[in-house]
Amino acid sequence: MPYDTQPKASHFINGAYVEDTGGTPIDVIYPATGEKIATVHAATPEIIENAITSAKKAQAAWAALSGTERGRILRRASEIMRDRNHDLSVLETYDTGKPYQETSVVDATSGADALEYFGGMAATLTGEHIQLGENWVYTRREALGVCVGIGAWNYPTQIACWKGAPALACGNAMIFKPSEMTPLCALKVAEILHEAGLPAGLYNVVQGMGEVGNALVTDARVDKVSLTGSVPTGRKVYAAAAAGIKHVTMELGGKSPMIVFEDADIENAVGGAILGNFYSSGQVCSNGTRVFVHKAIKEQFLKRLTERLGNAVIGDPMDPETSFGPMVSERQMNIVLGYIEAGKQEGARLVTGGAKLDREGYYLEPTVFADVTDTMTIAREEIFGPVMAVLDFEDEDDVMARANDTEFGLAAGVFTRDLTRAHRVAARFEAGTCYINTYNDAPVEAPFGGSKNSGVGRENSKAAIEHYSQLKSVFVRMDDVDAPF
Ligand code: NAD
Repeated sequence: MPYDTQPKASHFINGAYVEDTGGTPIDVIYPATGEKIATVHAATPEIIENAITSAKKAQAAWAALSGTERGRILRRASEIMRDRNHDLSVLETYDTGKPYQETSVVDATSGADALEYFGGMAATLTGEHIQLGENWVYTRREALGVCVGIGAWNYPTQIACWKGAPALACGNAMIFKPSEMTPLCALKVAEILHEAGLPAGLYNVVQGMGEVGNALVTDARVDKVSLTGSVPTGRKVYAAAAAGIKHVTMELGGKSPMIVFEDADIENAVGGAILGNFYSSGQVCSNGTRVFVHKAIKEQFLKRLTERLGNAVIGDPMDPETSFGPMVSERQMNIVLGYIEAGKQEGARLVTGGAKLDREGYYLEPTVFADVTDTMTIAREEIFGPVMAVLDFEDEDDVMARANDTEFGLAAGVFTRDLTRAHRVAARFEAGTCYINTYNDAPVEAPFGGSKNSGVGRENSKAAIEHYSQLKSVFVRMDDVDAPF
């Protein structure tokens, strides 16, 4: 291995790497080759205890600093992340299999954006003054306390920062549990934050499977839980958090619609469909995997889509020319192959792809099905792989009803040159994040999150502050207290 992928230890607690080999070993596999590149150990009860007590101990002093002081550390961390972008991107590629062409411009960079944005915002957080005649009320914006972040495997650096940055900006401590599939990147985020001056105990990383996540979520000392994961996991974590009346953010799965009207710019619509289905080998929660294309342009759309997919460079993710990499794991690859089989069995027309590549690693071909109908499995369930379902439509009202007929509500997109239709359609979408003539943008300045079963709360933007802080109202009476007796 030309790059040292074995971390110094499995966990990062109280400002230092910590090991406990008593925990279940978790092998880290490089998806492009199937090679083992590191081993970490799941957190034991002692490790979990250690993480919670250090977080709890450090949090009050952190919250007592001024926002300017907290923000300065986050912004310093963002600079270190940008300086180390190459190494962090290589590690992200080893952890996930995503091509370096993507990781070098998306992962550490968007993590750094979050640290910079919330670092800048920390000093601006205030309560308000409410005058009531000569009496008054003021609100204090206070930290929640100890926050737990639980990550999915598709964006391990980004998720660690999207949760950590607003939590820390608001004066909380964070305990982050990465996905067991991708345990490496969050450790680097913790290292960098501490190098930037973050006091020990405020950003801890513990490894493990669902049990470790559950132990954190159910601990009475934990005040908030933010999960990025699937809907079934979200149901469990939300229920466990509810038992302790904890604050939650749920960033869950999707089966998002993208509607391409007959007047759309076809090249842009095809580009959007490619970004919204094949970036990160389709392992993106907000992907627009149900592509409704107007019948009048359907064959033209499919022709250009197939031609452009022919330009995908599939291969070694470390090669900067490679634009399409493997699935994260053999298991995920097999799940996706099962969906491809279901698509064929249920009568969808396979336009391109559909097979595993004959090479080492977990590579699938970019796959497009046409003539998909609303009831087919591939049109209803989240696949989380490079499989696009193209459905026909002719009428706007009809396609809106079909687009919204899903338990999910994460994202939705529309391609049209008709300005009023674009905004009408965006308003009618039942989704937290909508796109007009674009797809899958996620800048830190804009709220991101889902409606319906796709989630609760928002990440990024000023909206995230509401989910990592709480208001205290302080009533002040200037005249005498008027008691009845
Ligand atoms: P997953 O639901 O299997 O696991 C997510 C995380 O939850 C992992 O860290 C896992 O260890 C942990 N976990 C599992 N059971 C738990 C329990 N009972 N208590 C606490 N933690 C538990 O998801 P995944 O396969 O890692 O990721 C893919 C899913 O994530 C997809 O559904 C995708 O759409 C979703 N996702 C959503 C967003 C978003 O922002 N909305 C972003 C990325 C991925």
